This record gives sequence, C-alpha cells and structure tokens, in this order.
Amino acid sequence: MEKTRRDFMKTAGMTALAGSLIGSPLFTAGQVSAQDAGAPSSIELPPLPYAYDALEPYIDTATMQIHHDKHHQGYVNGLKAAEAALAEARDKNDYAMIEYWSKKLSFNYGGHYLHSMFWEIMAPSGNGGGGQPAGLLMQYIAKDFGSFDNFKAQFTAAASKVEGSGWGVIHYRPMDDRLVIGQIENQHKLAMWGSTPIMGIDVWEHAYYLKYQNKRGEYVDNWWNIVNWPSVSKRFRAAKGV
Ligand code: MN
Repeated sequence: MEKTRRDFMKTAGMTALAGSLIGSPLFTAGQVSAQDAGAPSSIELPPLPYAYDALEPYIDTATMQIHHDKHHQGYVNGLKAAEAALAEARDKNDYAMIEYWSKKLSFNYGGHYLHSMFWEIMAPSGNGGGGQPAGLLMQYIAKDFGSFDNFKAQFTAAASKVEGSGWGVIHYRPMDDRLVIGQIENQHKLAMWGSTPIMGIDVWEHAYYLKYQNKRGEYVDNWWNIVNWPSVSKRFRAAKGV
C-alpha cells in the first residue's frame, strides 16, 4: 500500500509535534493545516442585514425567516458536510463517493454564495431599494444592453423562465469587460467561468411560493422595488477592480 502523508507523519512522529503547534502563528488558515486531512471551512451563515419584515410587502416576513434561517442555513450545513466527508475520504484514502460529494460541494457552495449575495443586494423599498442604478454601473448597462429598459426586460425574462429551480443573475465578465445576464439552474449549473455575479434573484419556489404561489412572473416584477442598486454598484466595482 502506498504511503500517505499521514503514514509518513506518524512514522516520523510528527503528529504530536503538529498538535503542539496548533494555535501557533505558524499554523494559520490557508497556509499550513494542523489537521492531517486539511483544515475545515470557516464559512458560516451571515446575518440578514435588515429585519425579516423589511422587504414587505414584496417579500413577506415568513418567507424571509424560512428562507434565511432554514434554507440558507441548510446550504451552509451541506457545504460543511461535504467538506467533512471529503476530509474523511482523504484521511482514509477512500474515494468511492467522490462524485457524490464533489456535486454536493458545488451545489451547497453555490447556494451559500448566491444567497449571501441575494440578502446583500436587496433593501426596503424607498429606503435603499428600488429605482435605477447610477454612475458607472448605469453606463455599463447602457453600453452592454442598449438601455436600462432593455436590460430589465431581458433580466426579467431570464429570471421568470428558468426551467425548474434556479436564479436570474447578472455577471461581470472581465475577459471582455462586459455585463452579461444568465440563468442559473439549481445553485450552480450554467455558471460562466471567470465571471462574477453582481446581482441575482432567487426563483426557487421557496423564495416566493407562500405569497405568490405559482405566479413567479409577478414576484420577479415586484422584486425590482427592492433591488439595492448602491450595493449592486459596489459589487460591480469590486468585480471590476475600480
Ligand atoms: Mn433560496
């Protein structure tokens, strides 16, 4: 049997040494792991940046509570479970379930990433939410879609027509310095490599069904009232590096 790093460390009596260094400045996250199979993720559920009822009447309080506290927490838990399972696989050198856990990792990380963005790019209507973007973001929308109305129409159609569960997302694509509108299926499929989502609407049924039932289009239309354009602009500038 091939000697693993774990075997080597045991043979060399280094496990105890590594253990004694936990907490030392030498062992910081992302540099050297104090664990044989690698350090666990530090990802946690972020708090909502406003009250559960802040987005009423466009998104109801109960939906926000369940969506943030149960669904988003579930993706964080799923991410941790996938990473723990992969650490165990490394530890045992047993990759029989590698396909399953690799998929779970992508799905749950996608869920965490997109929901973290979703809370951030909404705000109460008339108090940060709604209206139109300004400045450089508006210039890029005009450059890449012709007008804000064109952009809004394409985004609304893309979000409303996602097949099954997913998202409508606008990405910044640095390769040719453009904004592009895409659909995401589930939490992770149809991703565009190298591009950064700067805004997105969750069109899973859990995001709207309590209030809107089957009327996804009405939910998407109403959602424009709570888009936090200053926050989207901030994400755009961060992605563009300006
Ligand atoms: Mn969701």
